[in-house]
Amino acid sequence: MNKLNNPSSGNKEFSSNELASTALNSSWTIDDAEKAYRVKRWGNGYFDISECGNIHVSPRYDQPDLKINLREVINEMAEEGIEFPAVIRFHDILRSQVEQLNKTFRAKIEEADYEGKYLGVFPVKVNQMREVIEEIVDAGSRFNYGLEAGSKPELIAALAYNTNKDSLTVLNGYKDEEYLRLALLGLKINRNIIIVIEKFSELTKLISLAKELNIAPVIGLRVKMMVKGRGKWESSSGERAKFGLSIAEILNAVTLLENEGMKDSIKLLHFHIGSQLTDIRAVKEAVQESSLVYSKLVQLGVPLEYVDVGGGLAIDYDGSQSTNDSSCNYGLEEYVSDIVYGFKQNCDLESVPHPNIVSESGRAMTAHHSCVITKVIGEIHPSGTQYATKKSTSEHIIVTNMRDIENEMEQENSQEVYNDICQLKEQAFQAFKLGIFTLDELAKVETMYWRILNRIETQIKNEEFIPEELREISAMLSSQYLANFSVFQSAADSWAIDQVLPIVPISRLNEQPTKLCSLVDITCDSDGKIDKFIGEDTVASNIPLHQLIPGEDYFLGIFLTGAYQDVMGDMHNLFGRLNEVHVFSYDDDPKDFYIEETVKGSSVENVLSTMQYTPVLMAQVIKKDIDKEVQRGKIKPREGVNLIDFYEECLAGYTYLKS
Ligand SMILES: *Cc1c(COP(=O)(O)O)cnc(C)c1O
Repeated sequence: MNKLNNPSSGNKEFSSNELASTALNSSWTIDDAEKAYRVKRWGNGYFDISECGNIHVSPRYDQPDLKINLREVINEMAEEGIEFPAVIRFHDILRSQVEQLNKTFRAKIEEADYEGKYLGVFPVKVNQMREVIEEIVDAGSRFNYGLEAGSKPELIAALAYNTNKDSLTVLNGYKDEEYLRLALLGLKINRNIIIVIEKFSELTKLISLAKELNIAPVIGLRVKMMVKGRGKWESSSGERAKFGLSIAEILNAVTLLENEGMKDSIKLLHFHIGSQLTDIRAVKEAVQESSLVYSKLVQLGVPLEYVDVGGGLAIDYDGSQSTNDSSCNYGLEEYVSDIVYGFKQNCDLESVPHPNIVSESGRAMTAHHSCVITKVIGEIHPSGTQYATKKSTSEHIIVTNMRDIENEMEQENSQEVYNDICQLKEQAFQAFKLGIFTLDELAKVETMYWRILNRIETQIKNEEFIPEELREISAMLSSQYLANFSVFQSAADSWAIDQVLPIVPISRLNEQPTKLCSLVDITCDSDGKIDKFIGEDTVASNIPLHQLIPGEDYFLGIFLTGAYQDVMGDMHNLFGRLNEVHVFSYDDDPKDFYIEETVKGSSVENVLSTMQYTPVLMAQVIKKDIDKEVQRGKIKPREGVNLIDFYEECLAGYTYLKS
């Protein structure tokens, strides 16, 4: 059980009740905040809690002392009139990640006396936003870092954006004739394109096109690996994998190309055993297996020059450094080391040249660079409403019994009290259904029930042993904080695949959080909630947050949303894309940053148009009906004009709540 949920563990426990005034003068420190939210552990050097209780961002790995106060970024956004929820992108983090990956590979290659080079590519599908691709290509240009495309539209983008003659463009995914023609077009204009064959039939198509266009293709073969990745994407490899060629197909491909006089085109061996590889052992096994396939093919005279190890480099979303689905038990350094030394050793044993290494890390390049900022706009509390429970004459015995329990309960009999009130509440509902219980009586029973639960929770908090059922009380009493965002748009992986994303208040981290909460969004969907948070050992269903202060904004950050999430969100309830700012660090600025660009999120008009509506016509319908009422004298002319203006203003406005 998660420690935060367990009132008996430790003295810094959280209670759904506001902790009494002791909370205010408690000995809460930044270290306690770090323990609760693990910012340093998932932050990878980029995020940190400052002494003043705000989240700080150090977006450049080579300048750890440059710190941007996230609260100041938010304040500046508010001053510029940017509405929340909003996405903040730190382009320096993208650059830092690209540099670190390339530098780490280069350093290992040098250290190991490895004879091949590293030529990484960024897989476009992980974040296709133009600004992201541009930044990555730019930061990677001095390392000849390229792009990977997995579909025709991605290839079309890659052709236009990866213009560096020395970097690779690796083409994966299923391919039709048009895709292959585009690839050959790229070769004609000197792009360094490698066409990876995922399916045998692509090869015959490619051979005839290459002949027709009189161009020698550069071919990669994707091997269906026997080793399985671990984690959610383990079905990316093994016999039943969707992509790749079996060993028999690879040998047939070699023979076919040899017969066509195109054997020299085979340059790359590709594998990808899954994303978010939580266990480094899967990487080691894959390197072992693929280096043997490579060596044996080279010994058969296949002129391979590259091995592409695919993606899979994982992110420690929950900061546990474990093999949890949202974590991993290794870091970049170890990953790179295992690949470089693994290939070196096996190739040396097989007496074949060291291949150039290609990798396709996407998640690890982009996850840290963006976060979603949302405002908490309300609290939903099961025991929040009080109702007068004074004894009335001739009240039902169930109400009287409940009151007696409340008046007589003691420290020692918590379990007994709990059993009794559960039964009474049940009986009250039965009595109501039979028509012998009034609404007033039901309201009284409900009010006393929650009040007693609150008291039980306070009573058992410091007990050594807490019976199993009573441990659930904290969760029952926890609040739901209503946050202005849509899970389906901004945290799709949390909903779809139970991904844990770090969620942290932006400010007040020097203050003890006194509420255990889960989060609900503003969609009309009961799935529109987040109830998986970083827990002590495993995933927790609640997160400790601060009591809301009337009139004061309470911002939450949803972090590590830069990979997949960023572009996979949907339009559930017609909540569209978020407002976005691009933040750059700048040493000479008093606040160390500037907002370089603001990208407006979807307006109501935008999302309606996407769904084939015509906003102009809709406004006309409303205007006509308002005019009609004006003519009938039901609406004053001036009011009518205002109403039409208001409707049009809302059409042009942001889809989220104004708060
Ligand atoms: C998705 C994908 C990647 C990216 O994987 P990450 O785990 O995000 O690094 C790389 N290569 C291929 C073939 C993919 O399908």
